[in-house]
Amino acid sequence: MYRVVVVGAGITGLSIARWLTRYKGIEIIVIDKEPDVGWGVTKANTSIIHPCHEENPDKHPLRSKLCLEGHNLWYKWVKELEIPAKWPGEIIVATIDEELKGLHKYIDYAYRIGVPGVRLIDREEILRLEPWVNPDAIGGLYAPTAGTINPMMAAIAIAENIVDNGGKLLLGTKVEDIVIRDGKVVAIETSKGRIEADIVVNAAGLYADRISRMAGIDDYSIHPRRGQYLLFSDRVDVKPSKILHTAPTPKTKGVYAITTVDGNLLIGPTAEDLPEEAREENTTTHQGLDFTYKMASRILRELPPRSKIIKTFAGLRPEPSTGTFIIRFHEKPWGFVEAAGIRSPGLTAAPAIGKHVSKLIIERLENIEPRKDWRSKRQAIPRPAYMAPRERDKLIRENPDYGWIICVCRKVSLGEIMEAVKRMKKIGVPEITLDGIKFRTHSMYGDCQGSQCRPHIAYLLWKRLGLQPWRITIKGDGSKYAFTEVKALLRGDRDA
Ligand SMILES: Cc1cc2nc3c(=O)[nH]c(=O)nc-3n(C[C@H](O)[C@H](O)[C@H](O)COP(=O)(O)OP(=O)(O)OC[C@H]3O[C@@H](n4cnc5c(N)ncnc54)[C@H](O)[C@@H]3O)c2cc1C
Repeated sequence: MYRVVVVGAGITGLSIARWLTRYKGIEIIVIDKEPDVGWGVTKANTSIIHPCHEENPDKHPLRSKLCLEGHNLWYKWVKELEIPAKWPGEIIVATIDEELKGLHKYIDYAYRIGVPGVRLIDREEILRLEPWVNPDAIGGLYAPTAGTINPMMAAIAIAENIVDNGGKLLLGTKVEDIVIRDGKVVAIETSKGRIEADIVVNAAGLYADRISRMAGIDDYSIHPRRGQYLLFSDRVDVKPSKILHTAPTPKTKGVYAITTVDGNLLIGPTAEDLPEEAREENTTTHQGLDFTYKMASRILRELPPRSKIIKTFAGLRPEPSTGTFIIRFHEKPWGFVEAAGIRSPGLTAAPAIGKHVSKLIIERLENIEPRKDWRSKRQAIPRPAYMAPRERDKLIRENPDYGWIICVCRKVSLGEIMEAVKRMKKIGVPEITLDGIKFRTHSMYGDCQGSQCRPHIAYLLWKRLGLQPWRITIKGDGSKYAFTEVKALLRGDRDA
């Protein structure tokens, strides 16, 4: 039996681990410093499954190949794992001649990479395909295969599938060093002790360069490139059916306007290079948000007023100094594998990166065979709000908690919240966090962003599971939801 330890439970590490669960003779452990899966770069991005025609196949041959392969695998993965997804297609909207001229090269890239259906379209066709486009548009590029998923639901679904297939997750565990003996990786040191390993896979996102240095590899660095977003209420009228974006620049694919799978208008991101040490700098700025709003108004006929914004947030792209994905199996030290610098289109490419990396590993191990009992399927948490009445009635009869709506904005029931908690425990989440419940159920996700249902959920976790609100956190250490029990303070209890 070989033990493969994957560092990083983001979309990359989880996809690699999912592929590895298909084989007999491998024990898989995925480790993450955060108390849940997907809380790194995977949590905050534009959520697009790119068509891949914007990848330059000369400059990034592996990246463009993995992008298209990943895109195609997602069609299968979203079905197998019941991940919310849609495939509306996308339009790059040009508003000046220079932008229009710049679009021609993507036709060439599309042809060479093998992206189907990409074509230049004129103003009339743009407005016919998408009436929400700004009539000042002078032309554009249509890519019919673009899609969008919910990245957190994807990470969670993959994690559940890994555990169903016998893999393990060690969350809230920080990798601190890699132990090398006789030129081979033999173990990792973590905040919770040493773990023996035959293979260590570095899928640590923004911190991948630091993990590589632990293995003596020091030929690249990572700096964060921040992207800021505005998320509007799902009740605004402006809901483009196609994914729209401004013309790409050498740094970014442009600013997008997209109706997410959850029905919200999302606009962004910016592309701001930050110093290496700013890897946690995911704050938003007035300047960044203003820029996003201004850019989006170039491509949309109208924008909802800022009073309809329910959330602003920022994500950090892990930009590698090499400019492209770093994916390699090291012979020195043997057993150290990197899936580093996974910047955009990393979400799109993830299933293919997983396949590619698992192949690099499998071909170096002996006596490894595919499993016949591998489970490809995972079921989503039942969602009574979207069920046909008869189906919903049956579910509520079986478990009345599904009839008790806790989050009014998103119509999420207590049954869904309790099922989420059960699943968090099953995959090894060390503490139940309110954000963990949010990402699984989409309670606390609507217009009020949890100001109404969060206290109710905290209270019900206490009453149902004995989790006292003053011990529950929003997102782990340092984010306690409540201060203490008032009655205990009045009683003068010492541990209040
Ligand atoms: C603004 C923005 C927009 C984007 N838009 C898109 C898009 O629309 N489409 C697309 O395809 N891609 C997009 N991307 C890129 C995509 O989000 C990333 O490529 C992808 O999420 C990277 O996932 P990952 O698993 O490699 O990294 P992460 O999700 O960061 O996972 C790495 C994990 O490693 C853990 N870790 C780090 N150090 C340690 C340690 N010492 N010990 C234990 N664990 C550790 C972290 O906690 C983290 O959870 C975008 C990115 C950004 C920031």
